[in-house]
Amino acid sequence: AVAVVASLNVDHIVQAPRIPEPGETLMGFSTSRELGGKGGNQAVAAARLGADVAVIGCVGQDEDGDEYLNALAAEGADVTHVRRSALPTGRAAITVDAEGVNSIVVVAGANADIPAAAAETAIGALPSLRVVAGQLEAAADATERAFAAARERGVLTVLNTAPAADAAGKLLPFSDVVVSNEIEFRQLTGQDPFDGNGLRRGSADLFAAGCRWVIVTLGAEGCAVLDASSSAHVPAVAVRAVDTTAAGDSFVGALAARLAELPGDPITADVVAACGFAAKVAAVVVTRHGAHPSLPTLAEVCAQQEG
Ligand code: ADP
Repeated sequence: AVAVVASLNVDHIVQAPRIPEPGETLMGFSTSRELGGKGGNQAVAAARLGADVAVIGCVGQDEDGDEYLNALAAEGADVTHVRRSALPTGRAAITVDAEGVNSIVVVAGANADIPAAAAETAIGALPSLRVVAGQLEAAADATERAFAAARERGVLTVLNTAPAADAAGKLLPFSDVVVSNEIEFRQLTGQDPFDGNGLRRGSADLFAAGCRWVIVTLGAEGCAVLDASSSAHVPAVAVRAVDTTAAGDSFVGALAARLAELPGDPITADVVAACGFAAKVAAVVVTRHGAHPSLPTLAEVCAQQEG
């Protein structure tokens, strides 16, 4: 099974001709409202791919919270460890311009209120747990305690360092697998992942901090997978991308789902193979619009490979 210490947000999206300048008011084209949040997206991605998923998180005592809980349950996810906070459900305000480029402000709300002790207890209470995934949108203390408890149980921990935030540093010692995109890798290590030496040097810092594998996703360029002594490149699947929303989240969800299927502790070849699978899943996601609506089932991933 997979547990995700998850941010659960409701996204409020406006389509505009361009991103407004500071102080400027623009007329937009349309608005929409969707369920999102990196953690929630990752959990739904893994569930649709057939993983047994438990969500550790927090929503408000509001309608958004009810809606998110119902949606997760409808995906077959275990929501026993999603608590209700006095703070409102997390929310994101997203502006998307005519080229599909977005700018996002997230207000954590209840996501900041996941009790660390409850996260730790949840890890202990979940049977047949193999992988715990987390990101930096949910309470870092809760993620840290969950990861520490997972480590003690021999459960693999996967940290997605998104969005770029200082809390990554304290989570690295508890993270077996670190997944960063280009921007996050630069922020975390000060190195350019497109440069071979930069990639090696930056990853060496992450290994020194305690992680075992570093995965740097590079958009349409695929991803790099490194362990302390080797590196591999996993190409992206060539597709016509229309909306990259949730590409990284689906990659992390798919990676966690695949790693949870391994009979024992992974070796580097397993991690590389899991990234190949995650790239196939993300390639489907970028051909569709939205976050949850774009996340494929296993059958849909296989169909794209054949098509
Ligand atoms: P994030 O969305 O977190 O910035 P990336 O843009 O690096 O993450 O994308 C994550 C993964 O999604 C990539 O490693 C790749 O496998 C896949 N992906 C992203 N963009 C494309 C694309 N245009 N075509 C095919 N695959 C893509």
